Amino acid sequence: MAVSKQELTGWGRHPTVNGLERLTEDLESGSKGAELSRGLGRSYGDASLPVAGGFALGTRLADRILAFDSETGLLHAEAGLSLHDLTWTFLPRGWCSPVMPGTAYITLGGMVAADVHGKEHHISGTFGRHVERLRMRLADGRVIWTSRADHEYPDLFRATLGGMGLTGHVLEVELRLQSVPSPWVYQETERVQSLGLFLDALDKAAESWPMTMGWIDCLKSGPSMGRGILFRGRWAQPSEAPTKTPSRKPRISLPIDLPSALLNSFTMRLFNEAVYRSHWRRLTRGVVHPEEFFHPLDKVLQWNRGYGRRGFTQYQCVVPTRDGAARVLKLLTEAKAASFLCVLKDCGAEGEGVLSFPRPGTSLAIDLPIKEDTEQVVARLNEQVIHEGGRIYLAKDTFTREAHFRAMEGERLDRFIEIRRLYDPESRLRSTLSRRILGDRSPGVGPFSKTQE
Ligand SMILES: Cc1cc2nc3c(=O)[nH]c(=O)nc-3n(C[C@H](O)[C@H](O)[C@H](O)COP(=O)(O)OP(=O)(O)OC[C@H]3O[C@@H](n4cnc5c(N)ncnc54)[C@H](O)[C@@H]3O)c2cc1C
Repeated sequence: MAVSKQELTGWGRHPTVNGLERLTEDLESGSKGAELSRGLGRSYGDASLPVAGGFALGTRLADRILAFDSETGLLHAEAGLSLHDLTWTFLPRGWCSPVMPGTAYITLGGMVAADVHGKEHHISGTFGRHVERLRMRLADGRVIWTSRADHEYPDLFRATLGGMGLTGHVLEVELRLQSVPSPWVYQETERVQSLGLFLDALDKAAESWPMTMGWIDCLKSGPSMGRGILFRGRWAQPSEAPTKTPSRKPRISLPIDLPSALLNSFTMRLFNEAVYRSHWRRLTRGVVHPEEFFHPLDKVLQWNRGYGRRGFTQYQCVVPTRDGAARVLKLLTEAKAASFLCVLKDCGAEGEGVLSFPRPGTSLAIDLPIKEDTEQVVARLNEQVIHEGGRIYLAKDTFTREAHFRAMEGERLDRFIEIRRLYDPESRLRSTLSRRILGDRSPGVGPFSKTQE
């Protein structure tokens, strides 16, 4: 077991917490007394950070595949298995994860805890829909199996999907993989000139395509606000795909932090313009490598260094109406806070996770470089999202205040707190995020404990 005391951060490199990460191949013994599990640290903000001075169980070395049934697609694996390793083990054999988020450098435990979604959300729902059972260590030390079955703590199971690690340590996952006709993807891209047209095109694409999403230029205002590139895809049929198996794409690494000064409105506009123009053909279609379709950002390891030392956050919200999405985007454009990436996706039905993020509506995800006023910008966006009846995604969040989160989540949050209190009355499992948005105050003492501060 390796224990390292270090400055821990999430993917956005802000905030930084001095804590311990205990990396082990044996999650069952390593989880004893740990206050949080941490996978590959790809959540942007403070979800994977223990409270200062605390320690997290690092799960990424516990990545064994324990069983696979090629009749049913049922996979049993340790929680530290990465989506990347899963994909490259199973895709050549005709199977893959039914939910593919925008990076493959995440663990099964992290996928459960954030109840992740992907381009296929309108068809496949969130990751939790495909999880059959979880083996967990609870705050009181018990190791149990949990599932939807009445005798396996179904309330705990549902609170764990999207529960950001606060209900217990996931040790093992049983998950149903999806069988695919070939390991290649058939993709179409379409250049779209405004937000209204974009949302129409997304709606239309969702009727016949299992995977859809769009990139929009969130620095454009006026009639071109929301112009961008729509991506729609499906697994390619063997008759149209290359006969060879795709090989893993080479990676490059960003070796240094880029100076924050490089990120100014001029360079960002230039970048967005270049991406828009690089799709000079209105429509393209063809078979592409699965990594190009699902995980284009993974080509550059440590691309988060591109935001400089100050780091960045991502603001991701989902709002029920198209007009609401347009108002949030307008606010964002006016705040001039956004950067390169703005991803637009229509979400399907709400999943069963008590605090899972997606709900029917339009999701916007935008990188925000950290500046003096980022917290205020997020607060303004949150007020608008509350007004629209939407919510934010905790896996990306860094700045949301407790009162705003409560205003968004209402009864869902009450239910989550009730279940958490049942299984962990003293809030032994906690994180920097739980302090910020659930009000856990000090080690072992939270708003749900018997002894209030
Ligand atoms: C480039 C990029 C693109 C992304 N695209 C998407 C996307 O398309 N859709 C989407 O939904 N998300 C997306 N994400 C977010 C990412 O999928 C989630 O944050 C995911 O939780 C990260 O997994 P991880 O293993 O790195 O977990 P970490 O970041 O290490 O931890 C995340 C949370 O999971 C908990 N956790 C981790 N392991 C366990 C365990 N074994 N038991 C209990 N709790 C655990 C942690 O406590 C923490 O609360 C993206 C992130 C990046 C960097």
